[in-house]
Amino acid sequence: MAAGTIPTPVAEPFVEMRDIAKTFGTVKALAGLNLSIRPGELVTVVGPSGCGKSTLFNILAGLEEPDPGHTLHFRGKPSTASALLGQVAFMPQRDLLFPWRNVIDNAILPLEVQGKSRDEARKLALQMLPEFGLAGFEKQYPHELSGGMRQRVALMRTFMFERELMLLDEPFGALDALTRAMMQRWLLDVWAKHKRTVLFITHDVDEAIFLGDRILVMTSRPGHIKLEEKVDLPRPRHPDVLTSTAFIELKKKLLASIEEESMKAFAAGSAIKTH
Ligand code: ADP
Ligand code: MG
Repeated sequence: MAAGTIPTPVAEPFVEMRDIAKTFGTVKALAGLNLSIRPGELVTVVGPSGCGKSTLFNILAGLEEPDPGHTLHFRGKPSTASALLGQVAFMPQRDLLFPWRNVIDNAILPLEVQGKSRDEARKLALQMLPEFGLAGFEKQYPHELSGGMRQRVALMRTFMFERELMLLDEPFGALDALTRAMMQRWLLDVWAKHKRTVLFITHDVDEAIFLGDRILVMTSRPGHIKLEEKVDLPRPRHPDVLTSTAFIELKKKLLASIEEESMKAFAAGSAIKTH
């Protein structure tokens, strides 16, 4: 560092994990995974199908305990994964809305679980609807909504569970390209306003770059982080960045890294998996 420069203060990691492994019977899903997420960051995780992205997500959400022999710190203190349950807001890969509940009653689920009265929760949710592009749709049922709207209800539900860390597992994976691009821009606006820390899992490299402050590339199974790239693109992100030289250079690097992993997985005969 040059003499006289003031070092940028680095916030203490919100979550820090070392040597994470997870075995399911004979399948080693994760091994030797290190991860740290700092407050306010939007970290994207990208990797080949079946590399353990959702497994990592489930550990961070407190739904799965990793194999023994790891360390995990939450807000600077030693923690277990299961203790993260309730501390973290998460939207699983297959986030199904309850078909028998309308938009507003799907959105308020986490508040009801926390013991808030339905009326009070509904009032709060009604105020949030416009921001999620759902104004006027509160009485609609999931089957009456487009795919993009259903995802926004699920995201609103995740935002309503007010936790500093939000985990999103391929939230836009099932959407068509145009809807997906709109949702990405919208999510960045909402994120900028609410200032949450986000871990966003995707298998789409463009999405990982467009959204992220930092991108983590996972190896094929057993998954760990093989590459970490900072995204030096200005915010707010404009769709024009998608064709910028910096974006394309970074994309090439990430694709090469992922392709190498996919080839390894393919050679091992384990690449075929749909999510
Ligand atoms: P990704 O989300 O990257 O596609 P997953 O984390 O879903 O990958 O899966 C990683 C590997 O672990 C896969 O081989 C999957 O079949 C296996 N796996 C994940 N969850 C379980 C589970 N609950 N029981 C058994 N195997 C599992
Ligand atoms: Mg997955």
